[in-house]
Amino acid sequence: MKSFSTGLICRECGATYPADARYSCDFCFGPLEVSYDLEAAKAHLTRESIEAGPASIWRYGALLPDPGETPVDLGAGWTPLRRADRLAKVLGVRELWLKDDTRNPTGSFKDRVVSCALSSARRLGFTTAACASTGNLATSVAAHAAFIGWPSVTIIPADLEKSKIAMAAIFGGIVLGVEGNYDDVNRLCVELVAEHPDWAFANVNLRPYYAEGSKTLAFEIVEQLGWRLPDQVVVPLASGSQFTKVAKGFRQFRELGLVEGDQPRLFGAQATGCSPIATAFHAGADVVTPQRPHTIARSLAIGNPADGPYVLDELRQGGGDCGSVSDAEVLECIGLLAETEGVFAETAGGVTIASLRQMVERGTLDRDGSIVAIISGHGLKTLDAVADSATVTHTISPSLESAQAALGFSELVAAS
Ligand SMILES: *Cc1c(COP(=O)(O)O)cnc(C)c1O
Ligand SMILES: [Zn+2]
Repeated sequence: MKSFSTGLICRECGATYPADARYSCDFCFGPLEVSYDLEAAKAHLTRESIEAGPASIWRYGALLPDPGETPVDLGAGWTPLRRADRLAKVLGVRELWLKDDTRNPTGSFKDRVVSCALSSARRLGFTTAACASTGNLATSVAAHAAFIGWPSVTIIPADLEKSKIAMAAIFGGIVLGVEGNYDDVNRLCVELVAEHPDWAFANVNLRPYYAEGSKTLAFEIVEQLGWRLPDQVVVPLASGSQFTKVAKGFRQFRELGLVEGDQPRLFGAQATGCSPIATAFHAGADVVTPQRPHTIARSLAIGNPADGPYVLDELRQGGGDCGSVSDAEVLECIGLLAETEGVFAETAGGVTIASLRQMVERGTLDRDGSIVAIISGHGLKTLDAVADSATVTHTISPSLESAQAALGFSELVAAS
């Protein structure tokens, strides 16, 4: 189905622009976002027309930026929504669902946003893909670029997990490791955009198109719940883009009459070692004070989050809350999720589950309402984080006796 996007609109002053490669407002420097003709969409878009679409984010193409002739579709999205009763029991909640975004082409939710960004980039005539990344975005950009035969330049902190660097480099693009943190990387990329306006930086000059991809998390959750809204959703926060667009996705589906009910309450999740949004939220501040990140949750380690103020608005208006959890809790909850549900998440998933538990304990998350937790990246991406604790139970010699002894059956062996 054709896209009902109409162009770009300034999130601050409402100025409108055509759907070209710009990301900030000429008048007020506010961030731009994609706008839609929801009235026209309403006349065409039905549950049935969506259900007849492809098993990827492009089943919601009517509510995504115009991808031109064909989208750049490596198969992002339409990931499982699993009922998690065993984990729910441990956490003391009634109805828990996991949105399992480990199951994307490159193992993280970033494939959703990159598929959108590069589709728009191709429509606009770009031929080189680039990004500033905490790791997962670089992997996804490099993979999607390889898929369409484009060169890519991805820029990451040089000290990222080895597994993340390998996953970005394997696709053959240029990977620049910056001696600094993500906020240094991002500053550098803003300068590079000025020098190379012909490069499509997914999360810089293509950011309005990139961001829209996250709405598909909300769309899928509604459709997979049988066209029902959850009461509460827990979302991991890096720049805050995913969070604000998940909110936008639920809003659009409600405005279109595709689903009925109240806007779900959204809850944020951060690691204490990089918790600028949680800190501002609990201090009652309107501005987010940048932090210097120090946490194992590297994919969420953005100390100066671009969408921070919008997340704060959304949290306050919606009656949400924001968790802040230690690295020890992150590791514990990666294990808890794996042991109870068979899902291996990266550190960001540990942040989400640990934050969920924290907010249930302090009563801001309603344990009797339905809850969806977004598990945004695969555990293989951060193997280093668990490699010391998740290891062989016993080392034994290759004999039955040794195996039985290790398993606690030594007396049986002795008796027989
Ligand atoms: C990028 C990322 C997020 C969220 O990023 P935002 O910048 O807040 O949109 C969450 N989880 C993982 C694993 C990520 O890589
Ligand atoms: Zn403006």
